[in-house]
Amino acid sequence: MQFHLNGFQPGDPEISDPAERIQVSGAPGTVPEQVDVLIVGCGPAGLTLATQLAQFSDIKTCIVEQKPERLLVGQADGIACRTMEMFHAYGFSERVLKEAYWVNETTFWRPDDLAPGKIVRSGRVQDVEDGLSEFPHVILNQARIHDGFLDVMRKSPARLEPYYSRRLLDLEVDPAAGPADHAVTVRLERIDAANEGKVETIKARYVVGCDGARSTVRKSIGRELHGDSANHAWGVMDVLAVTDFPDIRFKALIQSAKDGSLLIIPREGGYMVRIYVELAKLDVGERVANRNITADDVIAKARRILKPHTLEVKEIAWWSVYEIGQRLTDKFDDVPEAEIATRLPRIFIAGDACHTHSPKAGQGMNVSMQDAFNLGWKLAVVIGKRCAPSLLHSYSAERQAVAKELIDFDREWAGILASAAKAGGADAARTQDYFVRHGRYTAGTATHYRPSVLTGAASHQHLAQGFVIGTRFHSAPVIRLADAKPVHLGHAAQADGRFRIYAFSRAEDPAAAGSAIRALCDFLTEARESPVKRYTPAGADIDSVIDLRAVFQQDHRELALAAMPPLLLPRKGRYDLIDYEKMFCSDLKSGHDVFAMRGIDREAGCMVVVRPDQYIAQVLPLDGFAGLASYFDGFMLQAR
Ligand SMILES: Cc1cc2nc3c(=O)[nH]c(=O)nc-3n(C[C@H](O)[C@H](O)[C@H](O)COP(=O)(O)OP(=O)(O)OC[C@H]3O[C@@H](n4cnc5c(N)ncnc54)[C@H](O)[C@@H]3O)c2cc1C
Repeated sequence: MQFHLNGFQPGDPEISDPAERIQVSGAPGTVPEQVDVLIVGCGPAGLTLATQLAQFSDIKTCIVEQKPERLLVGQADGIACRTMEMFHAYGFSERVLKEAYWVNETTFWRPDDLAPGKIVRSGRVQDVEDGLSEFPHVILNQARIHDGFLDVMRKSPARLEPYYSRRLLDLEVDPAAGPADHAVTVRLERIDAANEGKVETIKARYVVGCDGARSTVRKSIGRELHGDSANHAWGVMDVLAVTDFPDIRFKALIQSAKDGSLLIIPREGGYMVRIYVELAKLDVGERVANRNITADDVIAKARRILKPHTLEVKEIAWWSVYEIGQRLTDKFDDVPEAEIATRLPRIFIAGDACHTHSPKAGQGMNVSMQDAFNLGWKLAVVIGKRCAPSLLHSYSAERQAVAKELIDFDREWAGILASAAKAGGADAARTQDYFVRHGRYTAGTATHYRPSVLTGAASHQHLAQGFVIGTRFHSAPVIRLADAKPVHLGHAAQADGRFRIYAFSRAEDPAAAGSAIRALCDFLTEARESPVKRYTPAGADIDSVIDLRAVFQQDHRELALAAMPPLLLPRKGRYDLIDYEKMFCSDLKSGHDVFAMRGIDREAGCMVVVRPDQYIAQVLPLDGFAGLASYFDGFMLQAR
C-alpha cells in the first residue's frame, strides 16, 4: 500500500477522504460507579488489557485516559514478530500486515576508511532468522496500533470505549475488604472544558496502572523505577524527505566518524521515514526540555551523519525529543514480597509504568503489550471464578523477570552502539554480530517463563523438543482435516482466555479403537479426574474452558473424518452444530511436516498444553492423564 504521497494524514489510509479517516472514539457520560477492573491509561498496555477483558461480557471493565481523544500520530512504531502473533490472536494482524512497512533486511553503515567524513555500507543482514515466526517484523505508527485495539474493543461482547479527559488523582484500598469486594476507591478529575474540575469516584475490584513512565498508580503503591540515572536524549522525527542515500527504504544503522549514530526506520505507506538521532547524554536529573533542541537541530545532525548523502526534508509529520533511561521496578503489584503468602494483589502496573527501554532495541511498546496479555487472561479467569485469585501473583513474578532480562539486553545493546559511535564506527563488525545473535530478543521470542504452578517442568520435553516449555507456542503450517485448508496451527489460539491442548498423534490410525488419541478423548470425556469435565460449567460448550486440538501424521486424504472420536467433532451452540475445525494433518504436499519441524516423537506422540497467552505450559505423554489432571488442579476452581 502506498499513501502519504502528498502529505501525512493520520487515520485509516484506506478511506480516501482525510476528513473521514478518524473514527470518533470515547464513551459518553460519567464513568460507572463500580467495576471489576479499572484500567488507567490508553497506551498500548492499557488497550491490550482492555481489549482482552472486552471479550468477556460478564466482566465490567472501565478504561480511562487523561488525553482528550485517541492518539493520532507519533511515539513508538516497531512491532516485533511475537507482537504480530499476539495481534493475530486479537484479530487484527491482517490489517497491520497490509498497512505496515516490513523490515526484511537491515543495513549497517560506517565511516569510510579511505575517505574520512564519508560513510560506506559495511554490512547487510536478514532482519529475522528464517522460521522464527510466521509473521515478519513490521513498522507502523503506534496510533494505528491503538486504532486496531479500539476497533476490536468496540465490536467485542463488552463493547468497551475509553473515557477520555479523565486524570487519575489518587486511589485508596480498603484493607479489610474480601477478595470479591470492590476494595479500591479511585478518584478521577475531569479535564474536558465542559466539566473541568469535576471529580468522579469509581470503586473497583482491581486497578491496573498502564499510565506510562510517570505512573501515578505506581507512585500510589510506593514503587519506584530504578536504573540508569544517565538518560539519553534522542531526536525522533517522521518525515517526508528526498535523499540520495540508497538505503532509505531499509532499516539502516549508520555510525559516523564524528557526529554519532543515526537510525533510519522506513515507515508505512512507502514514502515516510523515521529518523532517530542520538543527541546527548543528560546529566543526572536533567530534563531534555532544558536543552531547547529544535527540529532544525535534529535535521542538521542527521545531515552531518549522512554525508556525503543529501537529505531534504519536505514535511515533518511528527517529531519529539525523547529522553529515556533503562529502568525497572522491583515488583509489578501492590503486595510486598514478604506478604505474598498472606495477601492478594489488588493493584497492578504494566508497560512503561514498570519498565522503560531505550528506543534503540524497539522494546517499549512490545514488552508493554506482552505484560498486558499476560495479566488480561489471569484477571478474566479469576473474576470469572475459574481460577483461584492467588494466580494473580504470577503476573509480577513472570513479567518482572522478563523485563529485567530485556533491560539487561537493552543496556548492553545501547552500550555497544555508544562505544561503536565513540570508536568512530571501528566496532561495526561487533555491532552487526550482536544484532544478529540477539535477534530473538528483538523479535520478542526469547521470553522463557520458569517452572511454576502455570509452567511445568521439562520432564517430558524430549517428546516435543521444538515446543520448549515456558516459551511461546511456535506455530507451524498444517492442513485442516475437514476441508483440506492450509492453516497455521497456532492460529487456533484466539485471545479468548481458553487453555488449549494440542494432541500430536502417534503414527497409528487415530480413529482406530485403542488408539492413543481415542484413549485421550475417552479420558477427557468420561473420567472423573478429567479437567474438561471438572472445569467446564454445566451448559457451556465443551471447549469453552479447555480446547482440545489433534494433529495427525498422515496425509489428510488417508483419514476418515466421521470415524474420529466425538470430542474432536464436538456439538456446540444452541443448535448442537458440529465444530469441524479441531483436527489437522501435516502439510506433506508442501513439505511442512509439523512433527519434523517441532521435533515431535513420532512413535510416542505427545500433548502440548498451551496457556491463554500462547505460552507452552506442559509437554506430556499422550497417556499422561494424571499429569494433565494435576496441572489444572493446581490453580483451577471446580465449575459450579
Ligand atoms: C512522547 C513519547 C515518544 C515516544 N517515542 C518513542 C519512540 O520513538 N520509539 C519507541 O520505541 N518508543 C517511544 N516511546 C515509548 C513508547 O511509546 C512506550 O514504550 C509505549 O507507549 C509504552 O506503552 P504504555 O501503554 O506502557 O505507556 P504509554 O504509551 O506511555 O501510555 C500511558 C498512557 O497513560 C496516560 N496517563 C498517564 N497518567 C495518567 C493519569 N494520571 N490519568 C489518566 N491517564 C494517564 C497517558 O496519557 C498515556 O496515554 C515514546 C513515548 C512517548 C511518551
